[in-house]
Amino acid sequence: MKMSNKRTKKTDLSALAAEVGARLERIYPVAECALDYKGDEWRLFVMARLSAQCTDKRVNEVSEALFAEIPTPKHAAEISQERLEELIRSCGLFREKARSIRESAAIIVEKHGGKVPDNERDLLALPGVGRKIANLLLGDLYGKGGMVCDTHLMRICGRLGFYEEGMKDPTKCERIMNPIVPMEKRADLCHRIVFFGREYCPARGNDCTKCPLMDICAAGKRVK
Ligand code: SF4
Repeated sequence: MKMSNKRTKKTDLSALAAEVGARLERIYPVAECALDYKGDEWRLFVMARLSAQCTDKRVNEVSEALFAEIPTPKHAAEISQERLEELIRSCGLFREKARSIRESAAIIVEKHGGKVPDNERDLLALPGVGRKIANLLLGDLYGKGGMVCDTHLMRICGRLGFYEEGMKDPTKCERIMNPIVPMEKRADLCHRIVFFGREYCPARGNDCTKCPLMDICAAGKRVK
């Protein structure tokens, strides 16, 4: 039986995703979140919010002093706006982040018994939480998130040939990537892509001739 072009394409992309996943697993056997959240769901919630337009390294740096004062959502719901701003100032967008963390904390305490929600609908209803954070939390905490389509993942997956290079639409990225990566593998693959991007495929100055994915990468194959 002849497969339709659409079906063939999906099969090809699934095979590419599996090969990328297998190679990255060999290069980075440990797929840890770059945010050092110490296995604590509340920490990951706050750190994911702080990481918007900020490096993971900086977020890790502020976390010790920060969680000494807001170890739980209850503490965060009660801390003053000014004090929280002070604690997270170096992460940028500190007013907005402080406000949304305090408001989210209050909702988590009042509506969810102090637990970070384990479903997309309740997560997306929290102030400051978009699909990227929701997918990160669902994937890392509960093993059921979608692909975390941030700028780095979108750049790399475009170069690899999963969709047109330069595409910057996270919703479209998820629509293409989620069906070809099994749910239980998404969080680890996303973490490995972060490591891989830093080491081999940064936004500028990537050297494809030194890349371990060059032979299967659409952009890499075009390099003479
Ligand atoms: S071959 Fe080049 S473009 Fe492709 S993933 Fe490697 S570094 Fe990035």
